[in-house]
Amino acid sequence: MGVNRREFLKIAGLSTLFGLGGKAAIDILVPGELEASMQALPQTGEPRLAMVVDTGKMDEKLMDICIKACHDEHNVPDLGNPKEEIKWIWKEDYEHSFPGQKHTYIGDDVKHQPFLLMCNHCTNPPCCRVCPTKSTWQREDGIIMMDQHRCIGCRFCMAACPFGARSFNWGDPRRAMRVEELKALNPGFPTNKAYPTRAKGVVEKCTFCAERLAKGQIPACVEAANKEKKGSMVFGDLADPDSEVRSALKAHYTIRRKPELGTEPNLFFIV
Ligand code: SF4
Repeated sequence: MGVNRREFLKIAGLSTLFGLGGKAAIDILVPGELEASMQALPQTGEPRLAMVVDTGKMDEKLMDICIKACHDEHNVPDLGNPKEEIKWIWKEDYEHSFPGQKHTYIGDDVKHQPFLLMCNHCTNPPCCRVCPTKSTWQREDGIIMMDQHRCIGCRFCMAACPFGARSFNWGDPRRAMRVEELKALNPGFPTNKAYPTRAKGVVEKCTFCAERLAKGQIPACVEAANKEKKGSMVFGDLADPDSEVRSALKAHYTIRRKPELGTEPNLFFIV
């Protein structure tokens, strides 16, 4: 039996209301139902921006460098309280990153190996489908955008995302801004030359550094990673057969998070 938009919204709404212990609405669907419902979605045209993380070249120190580069660039506050955490990019161990790919005999070192995670910029993004104000939407190049001015804080998108890629501002995030540090890192802060700060009551997440791409730059995490270790992260257009991402995918075995859900993540991991 397929799940139509109305039913999905109902589930997403209920899970938002009742919390479901942090479980995403999409996780409570019967396996296969979501995939069937997604097949009716129109696919956007090319290009299709994607990222590849080479886990063999990544270590925790490098991940921390990437996280810092992203969070500094986007004025992501550190509120010091896990319940209020705002994250655009983060570390998660294997068993939580790839829950469908663990088994009883997997070694502890693999189980607890950290992976660098962020929004997957899914080709079939359930988060966009449930947003009542269209404050999150898919660009033609595949980036899943977020307009905080239109966000009403209903958190349907958070309930619909099965990857925990979205954060909600329970309080005013500006109270935790390291103003002096950010001024040095981000010329222009806090004027409109810097990346805009957000307000209480809105959702935020990674945008593949859409603002940097518009200036001809690559995402901040990719830039920071490659400064330390060349080839540890690759970004580009899947539609271009000569792109670095296509070469990386051709040359290596890669995995994606929760492929069984049919959201078609555009974040790949070389393992
Ligand atoms: Fe949406 Fe989550 Fe996919 Fe990002 S990872 S596009 S927030 S469903």
